[in-house]
Amino acid sequence: RDILSVDDVEVVYPNGTRALNKTTCQFMDGEVTVLLGPSGAGKSTLLRTLNLLTQPSAGHIVTSAGQQLKSRRDIRFHRRDTAMIFQQHQLIGRLSALRNILMARLGRHSVWSSLAGFSRAEKHLALESLSRVGLFDKALTRCDSLSGGQQQRVGIARALTQEPKLILADEPIASLDPASSDRVMKILRDVCREDRIPVIVSLHQLDFAKAYADRIIGLCDGDIVFDGPPSALDNAA
Ligand code: ADP
Ligand code: ADP
Repeated sequence: RDILSVDDVEVVYPNGTRALNKTTCQFMDGEVTVLLGPSGAGKSTLLRTLNLLTQPSAGHIVTSAGQQLKSRRDIRFHRRDTAMIFQQHQLIGRLSALRNILMARLGRHSVWSSLAGFSRAEKHLALESLSRVGLFDKALTRCDSLSGGQQQRVGIARALTQEPKLILADEPIASLDPASSDRVMKILRDVCREDRIPVIVSLHQLDFAKAYADRIIGLCDGDIVFDGPPSALDNAA
């Protein structure tokens, strides 16, 4: 089932940079799609457009119901259902993993409110998410004493507590070593399979794309230059 379509979308930034030429593609439930391309190819722009953080200059983002995402209300609901994961996860270093997740979940920004202020259900969900990324035992550890890979996994756990219907990850492994990168990509793939949601990940490494993608969309200078399963890429070469 395709749940999100990009329909003839074009993005030109205010300074005149054309980041995405007329682009059309669909994303499916339960499928990991990797946006693969060098820096400047338009990967971030496409990801941000999927969340309407960047407005298309032309074309539309269309939901599974065939509805164009246009009104403020539709966009708000879409964003609520969409989790974003970034290269830099912006955790508050001196707070525990659990606290970072709870604060994001509730949109509470008071660093000082105690854990007692959160309900059992909220804490349960946060701990369950930490288990899914293999960090249950680090729940009460300060984030600045976790490794880069562990921090990224806290970032994913935080995204999971949003109970998203779509996950967008912008270069989530760009600053990680290969072992941590594998771990992060495996988690994203498992979530995609288990929760049956589309996971769209931008990467610049072909080997990770081949290892974890169900489908690779190759981007170069704002154009889709390839769209297919990793095996098709091998056959073409
Ligand atoms: P990435 O390659 O991971 O997308 P960049 O370093 O290219 O990251 O961009 C980082 C931020 O700077 C992004 O928010 C992007 O929108 C912005 N940016 C990138 N290129 C330009 C540019 N030419 N003018 C203005 N902002 C830019
Ligand atoms: P990637 O994620 O593949 O590195 P981006 O989508 O970040 O590519 O960038 C695509 C092109 O758009 C690049 O030329 C970049 O410099 C430019 N760009 C990105 N963000 C902005 C921005 N906010 N303003 C102007 N140009 C931008």
